[in-house]
Amino acid sequence: MTTNPSLSIIALMTLLMCLTPTLIKSQEGIDVLLPITLNLTVLTDPFSISAASRDFGNITDVNPGAVLCPSTPAEVAHFSYDSESTTSSPGFKVAARGQGHSLRGQASAPGGVVVNMTCLAKTATPAAVVVSADGTYADVAAGAMWVEVLEAALARGVSPVTFTDYLYLSVGGTLSNAGIGGQVFRHGPQISNVHELDVITGKGDMVTCSPKLNPELFYGVLGGLGQFGIITRARIALDHAPTRVKWLRILYSDFSAFTRDQERLISMANDLRVDFLEGQLMMSNGIVDTSFFPLSDQTRVASLVNEHRIIYVLEVAKYYDTTTLPIIDQVIDTLTRTLGFTSEFMFMQDVPYFDFLNRVRNEEDKLRSIGLWEVPHPWLNMFVPKSRVLDFHEGVIKGLLLNQTATSGVTLFYPTNRNKWNNLMSAMIPNEDVFYVVGFLQSAGGSHNFEELESLNDRIINFCNNSGIKIKEYLMHYTKKEDWIKHFGPKWSDFSRRKMMFDPEKLLSPGQDIFN
Ligand code: FAD
Repeated sequence: MTTNPSLSIIALMTLLMCLTPTLIKSQEGIDVLLPITLNLTVLTDPFSISAASRDFGNITDVNPGAVLCPSTPAEVAHFSYDSESTTSSPGFKVAARGQGHSLRGQASAPGGVVVNMTCLAKTATPAAVVVSADGTYADVAAGAMWVEVLEAALARGVSPVTFTDYLYLSVGGTLSNAGIGGQVFRHGPQISNVHELDVITGKGDMVTCSPKLNPELFYGVLGGLGQFGIITRARIALDHAPTRVKWLRILYSDFSAFTRDQERLISMANDLRVDFLEGQLMMSNGIVDTSFFPLSDQTRVASLVNEHRIIYVLEVAKYYDTTTLPIIDQVIDTLTRTLGFTSEFMFMQDVPYFDFLNRVRNEEDKLRSIGLWEVPHPWLNMFVPKSRVLDFHEGVIKGLLLNQTATSGVTLFYPTNRNKWNNLMSAMIPNEDVFYVVGFLQSAGGSHNFEELESLNDRIINFCNNSGIKIKEYLMHYTKKEDWIKHFGPKWSDFSRRKMMFDPEKLLSPGQDIFN
């Protein structure tokens, strides 16, 4: 992860950069002189280069030539190609970097310039997050993190409607992918909850776009893997914020009952509808984390997992506040009475709204304390069409995962609705009304060998290919062009046409390995 150098170091480097010409790699791999103007903060010290060369995945290590810490969007535009200008940049690669929580170098720029978007967020005026007077949206600097958006919105009694599980990701970073979590079935991904964007294209144009204004750029950039422009501002939809959450984990030993209940819950439209729905697996060959459950129940939960080898955990939440307080217990009671879980294995916590959304921060703290945060993360995320979820469960979960001597990390498993996604956007999902989000969030380290985890990922993908299960990977990293063409399928021609329109020199986000 990027650690920001102190201001004094930045000031020093700024001064040094004004005096020292910097060489970086051009498109053709030739050393070129970086165009430096006064007051531009360009860092080339080993610390800054090393921080920008790695990401959360801890698998790749790709050095940029320099790191730009911009204080205005115009400084970012300065680094893009300008076909009209005689002093245009010589065409080095440029990658925006939010929190660097990519998995395989997607925010890297080999030999080129990494733009540290947190710098822009810090200098944004009047603030990185500005909530509108009526509280219906916030204008957000794209380098700001979702936790900052949430904090600023809650101060006004409002909130974004859809979140990733982890809030310490940049707004620009998740909008470049999709931004998914337990609210997606109801509100869609984060890319479906954006009104407007400011984008600096690969041609150096600073463009405001929305569904009505420059829609081609707007839809291209959302889920566009950083290929068409650098988002500097996003207008995010907000709604009334609840204050508290009834947070339930409900255990199933039967996969069909588990998915039946999940699918029914995401299709409901009445007052019983939950606000959040996810699911995960607990397996006897993995670490059975029982910390959510009351101390007195932890042993019997662990025994249940041992007895069945695999337990499916339905995770739902219902928000409430003072208005709904009188009826919330009755609503939960009515809701859970219809579910087919393993009797006496339903558990509930009652927590503040912010703590619920920020729940993964606790997991981060725990993993950091035992040295398991900064390890390689060969995560595999995918969307599985509902029509093949039983085959996927038999072949992948029971056939491969459960047959491992040991599994590492969390496995997410929950359905969501296609009608909350906009097909004009670049993000790709299966072509079915309901599809499952499946995440194998594995960590290497300890007894878990990186190569073995990679081999398991390969076998999962091979099983899907050989069985004709038309998955779509999420947060993927392909190195072959044909894999990208297959991934985008019918959208490939639009995707490549937009690249020619907005970044014809193919400078942006080279770490995604799509066009180079
Ligand atoms: P970076 O890694 O910095 O960048 C990612 C890509 O976006 C790069 O190609 C980069 O060039 C580009 N980019 C970054 N900023 C901009 C910008 N302003 N304009 C244009 N392009 C830009 N994802 C989910 O959807 N749901 C989850 O629940 C979820 N949980 C996660 C939990 C953890 C612990 C981690 C590590 C990741 C999780 N992710 C999740 C994945 C995450 O959404 C992506 O990795 C995302 O890219 C991270 O944001 P970032 O700011 O770190 O992006």
